[in-house]
Amino acid sequence: MNVLYSSTRSKNETVTASQAILKGLADDGGLFVPNIIPEFTCKMDELCDMSYQEVAYEVMKLYLTDFTEEELKYCIQKAYDSKFDTDEIAPVRKAEGAYYLELFHGSTIAFKDMALSILPYLLTTAAKKNCVKNEIVILTATSGDTGKAALAGFSDVDGTKIIVFYPKHGVSPIQEKQMVTQKGANTYVVGIEGNFDDAQNGVKEMFRNKQLEEKMLASGYQFSSANSINIGRLVPQIVYYVYAYTRLLKQGELSNGEKINVAVPTGNFGNILAAYYAKNMGLPIDKLICASNENKVLFDFFQTGSYDRNRTFILTSSPSMDILISSNLERLIYKIAGDDADTCASLMKALSEKGSYTITNDMKERLCDFTGGFAKEKETFRVIRELYHKTGYVIDTHTAVAASVYEQYKAKTQDTNKTIIASTASPYKFTRSVMNAIDEKYDKMGDFQLVDLLSELAGTRVPDAIEEIRTAPVLHDTLCSKDKMQETVEKILDLK
Ligand SMILES: *Cc1c(COP(=O)(O)O)cnc(C)c1O
Repeated sequence: MNVLYSSTRSKNETVTASQAILKGLADDGGLFVPNIIPEFTCKMDELCDMSYQEVAYEVMKLYLTDFTEEELKYCIQKAYDSKFDTDEIAPVRKAEGAYYLELFHGSTIAFKDMALSILPYLLTTAAKKNCVKNEIVILTATSGDTGKAALAGFSDVDGTKIIVFYPKHGVSPIQEKQMVTQKGANTYVVGIEGNFDDAQNGVKEMFRNKQLEEKMLASGYQFSSANSINIGRLVPQIVYYVYAYTRLLKQGELSNGEKINVAVPTGNFGNILAAYYAKNMGLPIDKLICASNENKVLFDFFQTGSYDRNRTFILTSSPSMDILISSNLERLIYKIAGDDADTCASLMKALSEKGSYTITNDMKERLCDFTGGFAKEKETFRVIRELYHKTGYVIDTHTAVAASVYEQYKAKTQDTNKTIIASTASPYKFTRSVMNAIDEKYDKMGDFQLVDLLSELAGTRVPDAIEEIRTAPVLHDTLCSKDKMQETVEKILDLK
């Protein structure tokens, strides 16, 4: 069956999967959604005996229907290889009655690697299929994590260049070091004198600039985006929920058809949306537990049916969830509106004009698969400390937000379903916060000293991603002011 994609904001534009991946966003500013959520063609017990790569093929082929078997298998093989430090790619670890799905075994030790490892191959394959001859230039603004994962994913991928802008004084020292030591002849990293919003606005302006587009074309280039709303990032994320379920089935932790819950630390709503798609495909998921930190705009939404971004932005120890506009939520809004693009478009218009919108009661009823919760900073730290003391297992701050919300949910509902907690980052990525949570005495120590101590405490090897940056040479030192971003891009690409 052929799955096509249309915008969440109008029915005018219908494209194939490969075109949706190339475009990223629809022309009307909406997100691409599949015209049908496919059902599994393989039985659960067949999937149990497959490797991660094989499960990935069985899931992704149902969505990316214009990719040939050969093309899709090529992308999967290129993505899920020894870049991951375990053959399982996404292992499940049981601790304190919950199942932690570790999504941080890729090259930048956070869950964005799960999708950004394969996106470059999906994108270059999509370009070939659609006879795009230009070289693809990925332009990204980052507040830290996405930039590094995108750089690692696109590094030395033929037919692409990647340029990442980051706020020179707005990322952590480890995050900056990770980016400026990035290898790959096609990678460019630029620090700007300005904040993340300046970087983001500069990138958006370049995407909109028609003159620049023509100059690019004349030199054989076109822009594309590695943003989390690309379906080329969403679809690969469905895979690990299916994989995790089948592993638990195989290990005898679950019986066939037994319902599980999934708890996900959420920011842009991409990861939990993938779990929702998996449920709609037939994976036996009961509740989707959406966990927020103190920026609890999603918790309030599930509670009241009103989404309201007009509030103070709070900096927390789980920075990848410090978000007030959760872009991928638009796909859920579209679905609960009964696939009605007009309703979705008017709500999104209200969001951009007033910063808020309210859904109807009918729509709210269709949210019953979800339950929202949030964790304050103190709670998050307590969960890390207690889990470590009880079991020796160390989780990062983002994962701890989900663990805390799951604990609250279980206490309130007495729900006994087995639950998978998406573990989205290695504790080594947020060493300082994690060690401080375990004991405040660590506060005065240096970053790498803490890394070594964490290794001792947790009894785990320091990941290569951290080991490398201790000694790696700085390869990028370009700086520019916020109004010289376009000039910098023209220089990098040598545009005439
Ligand atoms: C991006 C990120 C999240 C949030 O995921 P969304 O798909 O944006 O909801 C959570 N944890 C970590 C470590 C992340 O990098």
